[in-house]
Amino acid sequence: MTAIARKIVDLSGDTKITTNVDVLSEIFNHPDLKDKQVCVVSITGTFRQGKSFLLNFLLRYLNLKYKSKSLSSEKWLSADGGDLSGFAWRCGSERHTTGILMWSEIFLAKLPSNKEVAIVLMDTQGTFDNKTTRHHCAAIFAISTLISSVQIYNLRNQINQADLEHLECFSGYGQLAMDQSSREAPFQNLCFLIRDWQYPFEASYGTEGGQHYLGQFLNAAEQPEELRKQNENIKRLFKNINCCLLPHPGGKVATNPSFQGQLEEISEEFLQTVEAFVPSILAPEKLVPKTVNGETIKLGDLAHFIQSYCQNFMNDDIPKLESMYMATSTAHYKVVLTEAQQLYQNTMNLLVNETSDILADVNLQAHHTLKKSEAIDYVKSKNIMGDEEIKRASLAKLSHDLDEMFLSYKKLNQIKIQRKKDLDKFNNDLQSTK
Ligand code: GDP
Ligand code: MG
Repeated sequence: MTAIARKIVDLSGDTKITTNVDVLSEIFNHPDLKDKQVCVVSITGTFRQGKSFLLNFLLRYLNLKYKSKSLSSEKWLSADGGDLSGFAWRCGSERHTTGILMWSEIFLAKLPSNKEVAIVLMDTQGTFDNKTTRHHCAAIFAISTLISSVQIYNLRNQINQADLEHLECFSGYGQLAMDQSSREAPFQNLCFLIRDWQYPFEASYGTEGGQHYLGQFLNAAEQPEELRKQNENIKRLFKNINCCLLPHPGGKVATNPSFQGQLEEISEEFLQTVEAFVPSILAPEKLVPKTVNGETIKLGDLAHFIQSYCQNFMNDDIPKLESMYMATSTAHYKVVLTEAQQLYQNTMNLLVNETSDILADVNLQAHHTLKKSEAIDYVKSKNIMGDEEIKRASLAKLSHDLDEMFLSYKKLNQIKIQRKKDLDKFNNDLQSTK
């Protein structure tokens, strides 16, 4: 099946937010990938500023580097690869669609540690334009920040204090979902991507110039107290913050409606900067596996988190602190409880299956007690945020569910014992008739 951008979160009316459950499960429950760590790269910012267009460079790199594995030098961007394609970009001032889109193909990369990581690309649409309500802006920004491990904040010309205000405010909603008592930054990487940078003589194009520019902006000595606080707050929200300055891509890209993604029509300077920028996010040593509260999560877990966050934004109001926090906590417990049950079942299935030795009831009971306590310890060993109440309730649920499962295992075991008895009796009878 050819890969396409699929909508996973949809917005309608003033406040309605829906998740596309079928698409979520199709993409995230890929049998070979669902148990892999995941790196989620998202791009957000005002509409019509080249977000989707840029994602296609990321896609091209992913295809060359991790799919066809044909990338051997730093010069990976050549016209031989054909025109740009993938996420649809649009000329003109009408926005294309709204919501959160995800590339349907997931790429598998190897980290320098040799661990495999699944890479997911996410596009957000419809933020900060005059048709998107504040509620929807907050939702898209917060949800995409919550589920990504790398958030690219796409801006035109320069960083304005208003952009930082948006960032602080909307990520703040996301922060509500995170552990307030944790000293760790709630989010992972943030990358400011400045389009149409016009002052290369002050700060050069690319990530080095970007870092210089960002430093000047975030660490300016003479700032009003209010701005200084805002900037400090943003630094606390993300573990790493970088910046890249991109040149203007040329008149054809910006204004020609018939531009179809031909690389020859894009300015050389733009291509060179992008060629260096993309690996700064997607090269194996740069990939950032997604964590929640410091715990690595798997591709297959993402759907729970997305659904849980969206549900919180479905009400008319901006979500309250407790409810966003609970959303993360509940989703994380759900994931970990399933893993714990799986651990328990793995052993118990082996013990009662047809080919294994027969166990006396008391022995099976002993295994159950041991495995149940291991499953409970597994949950306890995880750093899941949430108060004592949700922890107690989750552990009680696990204990109850495992006891229920045990009843089924016991029945299976008894059937096995009975069958053995019947067989022995049959054999004995056979012997005595001889
Ligand atoms: P999105 O709404 O942010 O996803 O924007 P699109 O990717 O759909 O692009 C909107 C328009 O901007 C298209 O006509 C693109 O060709 C053009 N475009 C893409 N990148 C750039 C850029 O870096 N600078 C300028 N000025 N235009 C761009
Ligand atoms: Mg777009």
